[in-house]
Amino acid sequence: MALKKILTIAGSDTSAGAGMQADLKTFQELDSYGMVALTSIVTMDTETWSHDVTPIPFDVFEKQLKTAISIGPDAVKTGMLGTEEMIQRAGEAYTESGADYFVVDPVMVCKGEDEVLNPGNTDAMIKYLLPKATIVTPNLFEAGQLSGLGTLKSIDDMKRAAEIIHDQGAQHVIIKGGKALDQEQSYDLYYDGETFTQLTTDMFQQSYNHGAGCTFAAATTAYLANGKSPKDAVIAAKAFVASAIKNGWKMNEFVGPVDHGAHNRIEHIDVTTEEV
Ligand code: ADP
Repeated sequence: MALKKILTIAGSDTSAGAGMQADLKTFQELDSYGMVALTSIVTMDTETWSHDVTPIPFDVFEKQLKTAISIGPDAVKTGMLGTEEMIQRAGEAYTESGADYFVVDPVMVCKGEDEVLNPGNTDAMIKYLLPKATIVTPNLFEAGQLSGLGTLKSIDDMKRAAEIIHDQGAQHVIIKGGKALDQEQSYDLYYDGETFTQLTTDMFQQSYNHGAGCTFAAATTAYLANGKSPKDAVIAAKAFVASAIKNGWKMNEFVGPVDHGAHNRIEHIDVTTEEV
C-alpha cells in the first residue's frame, strides 16, 4: 500500500524536539511520508536558551505550498504559523490540496517562553482554520484563548471551551489538560459535537518534554491519514506521546526533548478512556 503523504505547515526547531522536526520524525515512526512548508526558523540563545524566531519570507512560503500541493498530500497539519497572513494561506492551501484531513495544532507560544506569538493570530485561527479543521488540538491555554473563556480551571471549563470551539467549526476537539490541570493523571478531553470522552494515562516526568504538543498532533494526523477514526486517532496519539514523554531525555542544561521513537522502540503506554 502506498504511504500516506502528510504535509506539515510549521516552524523549524533547530534543537529538533518540536516543530516540523518532531512532525517528520513522528510521521516516519507511524509509516507515513512527511513533507514540509516552513513558516519560520527558531534558534536559541546559547547562554539563556531564549528563542529567536526568524520568519520565512512570504513568497518562499508560498512556493513551498505550491510544491507540496502539486505532490498531493492526503492530510495537512499545521503547527507554528507566525503571522495572520500565513494562517489564512495555510487554510486556503489545505482546501487547494484536496487532502482528506486537516489537523490544526493552534500553537500560540513556544514552550518555555512566556511570550505569546501574536495575539491577532487567535482571531485568524478562528476565522481561517477552525471551520476547516477535522481535529483541533489546543492545550488548556490555547483552548482558553480560542473559546474566549480565559483561564480554564476545571473539567467543566474544558467542556464549555470544547463546545465553543466545536461551534466555531472544528469537527473534533481534543483539549490537552496534560500536566496543567493539576490532576494526578495526565488528562485530555475529546469532544465530537455530541459526546465528551476523557483520555488519561499515568503522569510521567515533566522535565524533558520538549516537543510533546507537536508530537501529539503529528501522531494524530498520521493515525487519521492511515485510516483510524478521529476518536481512535487521538487515543492512539496519546499513547504514542505518553511513551515519548516517559522516555524524554536531557539534551543540555536547558532542554530535553521527548523520544519520538519510544512507542515503537521501547514501550507501549495504556490509555484509559471514559465518557464523561
Ligand atoms: P503542549 O506542548 O501543546 O502544551 P502538552 O505538552 O500539554 O501540549 O500535551 C501533549 C500531550 O502530552 C497531551 O496528550 C498531554 O496530556 C500529554 N502530557 C503532557 N505532559 C505529560 C506528562 N508529564 N505525562 C504524561 N502525559 C503528558
